[in-house]
Amino acid sequence: MYDINLTSVYYIYRLDEKLMFNLILFGPPGSGKGTQSDKLVEQYGLIHLSTGNLLREEISNKTPLGLEAKKFMDKGQLVPDEVVIGMIDSSLEQHKKARGFLFDGFPRTVAQAKALDKLLELKKTSIASVLALEVNDEELIKRLLNRGKTSGRSDDTNENVIRKRLTVYNNETTPVADHYKKSKKFLAVNGEGSIEEIFSRLSEAIDKKLK
Ligand code: ADP
Repeated sequence: MYDINLTSVYYIYRLDEKLMFNLILFGPPGSGKGTQSDKLVEQYGLIHLSTGNLLREEISNKTPLGLEAKKFMDKGQLVPDEVVIGMIDSSLEQHKKARGFLFDGFPRTVAQAKALDKLLELKKTSIASVLALEVNDEELIKRLLNRGKTSGRSDDTNENVIRKRLTVYNNETTPVADHYKKSKKFLAVNGEGSIEEIFSRLSEAIDKKLK
């Protein structure tokens, strides 16, 4: 009655691992992660997890978490790790049947990257690839100030806050790249050009990985 066939258990496990496909879209503020994520999730049937969007949703719902997070976001600082890790944990739980996830704006610190590794390990899966959009600083500032004119995002209207976000990115987020370079999962992609050109570069890289 308890005669479980270990070989088949192993193959079911492998199949699950193979079926799930998780990506990180990495890059500085204004590098186009949000725009490209919308196209990528549609193309590959992934669940889009953007910590920025999740936090802004908490803010517009005036939750205690949102009100606390807003203080950091308005200054261009990162929201504390435990807050965003908790949000990601519950989002993963909400989508148990997902084909895979596209993480956008997360992980932003090495502590977040290590926590994500652990959460995915519990689900018997991992990150397949980290695609990093590269855009020069002047172009980033131009794009963010432009977005600020229409997005209603207060963190995009003040050039000092934008510069602070870029400094935080250089100091706290670029070490995340090294974390994934160690496991050879990191791939830089030119993030300058038209939306379609950049999307082609990203999907080409993903298709290679899927083969
Ligand atoms: P951008 O990439 O343009 O900065 P996001 O929407 O990704 O925009 O993030 C907006 C702000 O939300 C960040 O400046 C930061 O304060 C906060 N935030 C988003 N994701 C994280 C994260 N993973 N860790 C800490 N703070 C975050």
